[in-house]
Amino acid sequence: MNILVCVSHVPDTTTKVAVGPDGTSINPTGVKFILNPYDEFAIEEGLRQREAFGGTVTTLTVGTEQSKDVLRTALAMGSDKAILVKDDVRADSFVVAQSIADAAAELKPDLVIFGRQSIDFDSFQLPSMVAELLQWPCVTMVSNVSIAGTAITCERDIEGGKETISTSLPCVMSAQKGLNDPRYPKLPDIMKAKQKPIDERPASTAQPRVATVAMSLPDQSRLGKMFSDSDADLDAVVTLLHEEAKMI
Ligand SMILES: Cc1cc2nc3c(=O)[nH]c(=O)nc-3n(C[C@H](O)[C@H](O)[C@H](O)COP(=O)(O)OP(=O)(O)OC[C@H]3O[C@@H](n4cnc5c(N)ncnc54)[C@H](O)[C@@H]3O)c2cc1C
Repeated sequence: MNILVCVSHVPDTTTKVAVGPDGTSINPTGVKFILNPYDEFAIEEGLRQREAFGGTVTTLTVGTEQSKDVLRTALAMGSDKAILVKDDVRADSFVVAQSIADAAAELKPDLVIFGRQSIDFDSFQLPSMVAELLQWPCVTMVSNVSIAGTAITCERDIEGGKETISTSLPCVMSAQKGLNDPRYPKLPDIMKAKQKPIDERPASTAQPRVATVAMSLPDQSRLGKMFSDSDADLDAVVTLLHEEAKMI
């Protein structure tokens, strides 16, 4: 079974993100980037299916030279091959999806696995878009999967319960948290991954369909204030409730 796993390079959730001078993008200076957490489940599932059925796991990301870090993590976990689709200009989800679909059309995997969402732009769009571009079935938010021949049965989380879906390979699926327990790469594998080749290919020349108009950080004036239980702080709370919040 040949599996294509798509991964995203996202800002670490503990990083303080700032909006860039153009007002429509993130200022990457000082931002620590990591492998999108949901994509760890996608990589792990690819490796488990390869261990069960043989074949190869290829990990792909659409991004910049810096995005190679997440491919190295995938290689250290056990991915056989890695591909960087080089996209230095700002793309929308559609262009990213088209680049992935172009690569999939060439690689002809039996299964394309995504994480359920990227934790930076949170669009939840790529798995469905790629499936549509390939004209393949798509099952999202998968929490359990079993494959027999070309039949694939997926359990997915729905509000208040589970839904079981069956379809056939080739197909696209996205991994929900809990699908598996991702393995930690061992130090020797991390070292070996640094030497492994990463194939590069150009991004799709498709035109973006949406444009970011503005980006802003949450309203700072609504941030909570911390008080102790000292008499002075209790007085301060009463004063603020009276004069600032005008609640009493
Ligand atoms: C270099 C670059 C710069 C960008 N800058 C901006 C920007 O400033 N503002 C903006 O609004 N958008 C930007 N984008 C677009 C944004 O990153 C895309 O929307 C994103 O790649 C897809 O995100 P999504 O939220 O649709 O993914 P989702 O559909 O939420 O992600 C689901 C899954 O898709 C996979 N995936 C997500 N991203 C990628 C990827 N790049 N490569 C491979 N697999 C992926 C992962 O498995 C992920 O778990 C940029 C894209 C690129 C490549």
